[in-house]
Amino acid sequence: MSKQRDFVLRTIEERGVRFVRLWFTDVAGALKSVALAPAEVEGAFSEGIGFDGSAIEGMTRAYESDLLAVPDPSTFQILPWRGEVEPTARMFCDIRTPNGEPSVADPRNVLKRTLAQAAELGFSFYTHPEIEFYLLKSKIVGPEGPIPVDRAGYFDNVPGGTAHDFRRQSVNMLEDLGISVEFSHHEAGPGQNEIDLRYADALTTADNIMTFRSVIKEVAIAQGVHATFMPKPLAAHPGSGMHTHLSLFEGDENAFYDPSARYQLSVVGRRFVAGILRHAPEITAVTNQYVNSYKRLWGGDEAPSFVSWGHNNRSALVRVPMYKPGKGGAARVEYRGMDSAVNPYLGFSVLLAAGLKGIQEEYDLPPEAENNVWALSDAERRAMGFDALPQSLEHALSVMERSELVAETLGEQVFAYLIRDSRREIDAYRSQVTPFELESMLDTI
Ligand code: GLU
Ligand code: MG
Ligand code: MG
Repeated sequence: MSKQRDFVLRTIEERGVRFVRLWFTDVAGALKSVALAPAEVEGAFSEGIGFDGSAIEGMTRAYESDLLAVPDPSTFQILPWRGEVEPTARMFCDIRTPNGEPSVADPRNVLKRTLAQAAELGFSFYTHPEIEFYLLKSKIVGPEGPIPVDRAGYFDNVPGGTAHDFRRQSVNMLEDLGISVEFSHHEAGPGQNEIDLRYADALTTADNIMTFRSVIKEVAIAQGVHATFMPKPLAAHPGSGMHTHLSLFEGDENAFYDPSARYQLSVVGRRFVAGILRHAPEITAVTNQYVNSYKRLWGGDEAPSFVSWGHNNRSALVRVPMYKPGKGGAARVEYRGMDSAVNPYLGFSVLLAAGLKGIQEEYDLPPEAENNVWALSDAERRAMGFDALPQSLEHALSVMERSELVAETLGEQVFAYLIRDSRREIDAYRSQVTPFELESMLDTI
């Protein structure tokens, strides 16, 4: 019995935990949960808990449906929103097949596999997400569209506003769950907020993002508002991105740091960014997986539409930020493409794989974008080599379908599922007759 398992069993006993929820994420990115009686936890550690994989999005084909959820004791936490008396705890799980092999359709396993590839090259991968979301008065949408809880903007201090209490309660809850928060503030859109989690290894960050979404939804329900991570809920206001700062470490050393290099970005860092840029179009159907994602990407408001990098250039897809002198450990690059609805396990996997490819193949970093990339003409952008990101899910999918990098990283089953699932969404969307069409045509054509 490992020390961590021991600790979990002892804590369950001492705190009088009444239920232990086993959490895992399906291929589409939804959190799944099964509650265990405390007496079952020891068995779950050794044998896992069986479930019907064919009932979970993307997990199995019906004829081989049995899967096991095996809890990871290092993720044990008491859920603060379930109260102190007879509390409820949770652990993230790895999904295994009945003969004990990691399931190829488990997004957490996809990320673990990609992290193992990085480890073979001597790297560990750290991420720090800036998560944006909207707070709305209700999830019921009338003819006037979604109604945000306030009319405030970037960094606004809203006296007595919902947003302060909301962020305060959320940050407290996250910290109770062992998730450190660096910043929280009002974002540019009305009712839009951002909370930035402290950097951690990518697997922990992905787990933390799934927990974060639950916390935000729970706090919203408790405060009588509605929280959404939809990429672009309001046509006239910015979408919700999940910019993520990425870094590789070799042991204790930040592999992106070279004090004598331009922007202190090492050769490894330059090649990593080059990898991400070269493969950006083919990974976009993963980092931006919904029809709605492309309304954010092409909606302006600091969402990146073109493949470029820059130093503190907020129109660039990859930004190489400034950090304080002597803080080489903080060297990192910011990927600004991903949105808040991404499956974080899969998003981090394809970003890491693209960056590693750049390192292994020694890609050269193209020239940086010094100006606002949106303000350039198409011809100027072409001349500078700033290709466009895909403009729709359909376009992104057609690029991804031909990608060896994405197919290898996700594995055949997850890759095929994402293609099927995206096609389903595209077809359902195409069959709609929208208010735009009715308003522009019904009367005039
Ligand atoms: N909301 C913007 C986006 O969709 C980002 C704004 C910012 O720079 O934080 O990416
Ligand atoms: Mg932001
Ligand atoms: Mg940012």
